[in-house]
Amino acid sequence: MLKVGLTGGIGSGKTTVGEVFQQLGVSIYASDDRAKALMTENLSLRSGLVSLFGEQAFMNETLNRSYIASKVFSNSQILAKLNTLVHPFVEKDFQAWCMCQTGAYVLKEAAILFESGAYKGLDEVVLVEAPIELRVNRVISRDGSHREDVVARMEMQWSDEKKKGLSDHLIFNDEKSSLLEQVLKLHHHFNQSS
Ligand code: ATP
Repeated sequence: MLKVGLTGGIGSGKTTVGEVFQQLGVSIYASDDRAKALMTENLSLRSGLVSLFGEQAFMNETLNRSYIASKVFSNSQILAKLNTLVHPFVEKDFQAWCMCQTGAYVLKEAAILFESGAYKGLDEVVLVEAPIELRVNRVISRDGSHREDVVARMEMQWSDEKKKGLSDHLIFNDEKSSLLEQVLKLHHHFNQSS
């Protein structure tokens, strides 16, 4: 079974593209959602988070996401430490999930597929790209975020130029090019390659 990465910067439309693949029957592993769940469920990961952020990492047994976000937001070293801590747990969880899948290929969706190094364990990678201004406006409309916050989060991720050099395929999600056509082409390719 082929393992394919699906990535893209904030607001590029990875989840939206993933939903099109899902409609074609492809199983998707949502790394960011699983990472959040593991941070609460996995006791070793929880203790790693407490070592990194202190007891305030949890509040009433619940992950204190706003506290952690405030710590990593302005400190790229702590962000890198958080990613290094979480990545092996997500990787193990992904491998276990793959064992239960039966399709010709699966997709692993992750915002920081390259930044975390997760792309190294995958057969191919699809990068979803969209114009920066469109991405910012999408996130503002979706989350009600402030423009400066979206731009700051964007600046913490690798640029599309850097990501393109490590990607095998590109989906251009500018709301003009047909997503369905681009996805169908890749779906055919992955089915042939598996
Ligand atoms: P994040 O990294 O922030 O989770 P993402 O890359 O997964 O973002 P999505 O959540 O898929 O991006 O898309 C961001 C917003 O833009 C969503 O509200 C989504 O509905 C909208 N969107 C994405 N692609 C399109 C499209 N082709 N046409 C219309 N709306 C779109």
